[in-house]
Amino acid sequence: MRVAIIGAGAAGCFCAIELKRRMPEAEVTVFERGRRPLAKVAVTGGGRCNLTNSFRGISDLSKVYPRGARLMERLLRHFSPEDCRRWWEREGVRLVIQEDECVFPQSQDAMEIVGTLLRLMRQLGVRLLTNAKAEQVKPQGVGYEIIVGNEAHLYDVLVVTTGGAPRRQGLSFLDPLDLRLESPVPSLFALNVDDKRLQSLSGTVAASVSVAFAGTRFCAEGPLLLTHFGVSGPAILRLSSYAARWLAERDYRAALLINWMEGRDEQEVGRLLDSFQRSDRLVANHHPEWLSSRLWAMLLERANISASQRWDALNKRERNRLIATLTADTYHTDGRRTYKGEFVTAGGISLREIDPNTLSLKRFPRLFVAGEVTDVDGVTGGFNLQAAWTMGWAVAQSIAAQN
Ligand SMILES: Cc1cc2nc3c(=O)[nH]c(=O)nc-3n(C[C@H](O)[C@H](O)[C@H](O)COP(=O)(O)OP(=O)(O)OC[C@H]3O[C@@H](n4cnc5c(N)ncnc54)[C@H](O)[C@@H]3O)c2cc1C
Repeated sequence: MRVAIIGAGAAGCFCAIELKRRMPEAEVTVFERGRRPLAKVAVTGGGRCNLTNSFRGISDLSKVYPRGARLMERLLRHFSPEDCRRWWEREGVRLVIQEDECVFPQSQDAMEIVGTLLRLMRQLGVRLLTNAKAEQVKPQGVGYEIIVGNEAHLYDVLVVTTGGAPRRQGLSFLDPLDLRLESPVPSLFALNVDDKRLQSLSGTVAASVSVAFAGTRFCAEGPLLLTHFGVSGPAILRLSSYAARWLAERDYRAALLINWMEGRDEQEVGRLLDSFQRSDRLVANHHPEWLSSRLWAMLLERANISASQRWDALNKRERNRLIATLTADTYHTDGRRTYKGEFVTAGGISLREIDPNTLSLKRFPRLFVAGEVTDVDGVTGGFNLQAAWTMGWAVAQSIAAQN
């Protein structure tokens, strides 16, 4: 049997290895358009490769897979994060689980992951062709024809693992199949906020905020980082993932609400301020301990309260303004920024085209898909690579089971 895998990324290489292990007699060829296989994996996690997550404390997968949670729930039963950790450790890669539940190689070197995959592919006899871009794919008899350069190649089984493509043209090689595609938009980004006062606090971290877009149900929690262009950090990245399509539709212009008070509502903040107002200290010097003095000074300014005011002299209107600023401080976003070069694509091959049991296309049963090319994507923390490993594994399993 001749199998072609298009895309030597995380999902494609993992699938090739797992397939060769199950079907050593199969001829498995991986086509990679770039000069180097696994180029993206090499730069994941800032070069350290956050290859999965412990998934501890995650009860609702839609919080980590805004698109594709149901499919991932099904697939993770067969190749779970724990299976994934065992897989890597069996191949000699020692792993560490950080306090934030992200999993990295102990070496803190993404090249260990790349090297391990390439070594296994070599040992198992996977054929890897680089500078080999698939220009077009079409059904041919019971198999598929792939056009690479000026050559047409025939295969019995095809696996598409071409990763994210922020523009629709990235998927044009699939045009002859007339697949339903969810229009691709970027996910996981920071947001521009044109507010000089906020930008002047660049580098400040608020350890636990809630962020939301006004008038929507999109909200996220976690650390927030103020930057020279606006806001970033885990809370914003998550929010950008949840609202990826909604934001793209309005050109990233939205009203961002920040609750600086670890998620406390107005009543709870009111009670906290009651205790502060029993003191005659200056409002500038006495503030919630989780907010830095610089950040607090900005919040007082935004609430239009003088720093030289005393807590016990705060009037009702000032108090209400302060509560509103602390619980729903509103900023206007006017664009997005890539965060450390990291992004994923929301959208891709529609899940309606995919048989969730096999990851083959419903209309093309010998054509399989895995990874970011599908309409599955996760938040930061190792969830995207886990999806690539799990889907690559599932495709290998399906092909072997069918042949
Ligand atoms: C800078 C950065 C850091 C990241 N860090 C993390 C992290 O730490 N943890 C995490 O979980 N996720 C991370 N991600 C996301 C993660 O890397 C991807 O979700 C994951 O690599 C997707 O795997 P994939 O196999 O689907 O696609 P990819 O790994 O992108 O591989 C797809 C491959 O297909 C090739 N290709 C595309 N079109 C064709 C074609 N027509 N013909 C032939 N080849 C083609 C591409 O060149 C590429 O090599 C990061 C992403 C970026 C950009």
